[in-house]
Amino acid sequence: MSTLYFDSAATSIPCRQAVEAASAAIAFFGNPSSVHSEGLAAKKIIDSARKSVASALYCKPEEVVFTGCGSESNNQALFGLSKLRARRSKRIITTNSEHPSVSAPLASLEAEGFEIIRLSTKGGAIDISELESELQNGAAFVSIMLANNETGAKYDLASVRRAIDRSGCGALLHCDAVQGFLKTDDRREIAKYCDCASVSAHKIGGFKGVGALFVKNGLKMPPFIKGGGQESGFRSGTENTVGIAAFGAAAEAFNAEKLKHISELYEYTKQLILESGAEIKLNLPEKHICTILSVSVAGVRSEVMLNALSAEGICISAGSACSARKGPSGALEAFGLTKQEIEGTVRISFGADNTREECVMLAERLAVNAKRLKR
Ligand code: PLP
Repeated sequence: MSTLYFDSAATSIPCRQAVEAASAAIAFFGNPSSVHSEGLAAKKIIDSARKSVASALYCKPEEVVFTGCGSESNNQALFGLSKLRARRSKRIITTNSEHPSVSAPLASLEAEGFEIIRLSTKGGAIDISELESELQNGAAFVSIMLANNETGAKYDLASVRRAIDRSGCGALLHCDAVQGFLKTDDRREIAKYCDCASVSAHKIGGFKGVGALFVKNGLKMPPFIKGGGQESGFRSGTENTVGIAAFGAAAEAFNAEKLKHISELYEYTKQLILESGAEIKLNLPEKHICTILSVSVAGVRSEVMLNALSAEGICISAGSACSARKGPSGALEAFGLTKQEIEGTVRISFGADNTREECVMLAERLAVNAKRLKR
């Protein structure tokens, strides 16, 4: 039985270009920090991938720091910025629906004495007047995701930046852009509005275990991983040449055409679900990326639906892969869903390899199971 994979927000299927780049990079085994020919050859691969990721982020290559994953990028940014700014302010503004790799480090900082302000995200939007009023009391930095991993809600970085600038408090802006990177209409917004931002290779057709942090030129954050001083001192540890080569290739390959294809699948699937007549509610944020569609099935617990579809070879997710084993989701509650709706919420996430035929099968099986499994 072939699998219908609709869980690209958990991890994407590696694209052909990433696989080819990784296969070619395996031969370059040298340590990129070594000054002999083998080391220089590996460094060349990393430099080239850095240019590709920088070009996708519309920033300079020296502003890209490779890390071990998106979670590490977030931890580096949050602990780094808090140390950098602690003397100025111990207030950090964030939202109430961040990924655990942001909310957990912030909870640690809270335990250390930082004040964490969590803005509401009802309906998938930040209330800018709430942000403006919080900024009046100053802040060390603001950390807001670009797109939510459970609802697909797309937050408005331009308005956040404007509010920070108007407040005059000098707060820095970090963005967890792991889900939004390359999936929004304006690819320039991350580097244009943020001081630093986290991205991850395996959400865009690269491999797991490679991420990057955009660090604006001149921002001197203390490193989280100290050691040999790789990545211009920002992130010690011998670089993962193979994974980084694949990341560069995936960033280049994730073009506007792929996004358009995914966007069409998103709209098509939405329509199919609505026309199916099953009791399925679409949880549509005000603004959203087109890779994540959250739906609540009336009277069917998400894990029951997940297992039923999995038995039929269809892979989707309950809320998000990260929260699947940890009980009710805070992000869905923050969005405004009721307890019953949250219990029946599943996440459909699209990738460049999905087809219209697959969407038809998914919508049909979702509707059939919604009727069959209803309590
Ligand atoms: N941030 C968001 C919004 C995510 O969805 C994820 C992964 O699902 C991460 C961060 C963590 O990225 P990684 O899996 O590369 O650690």
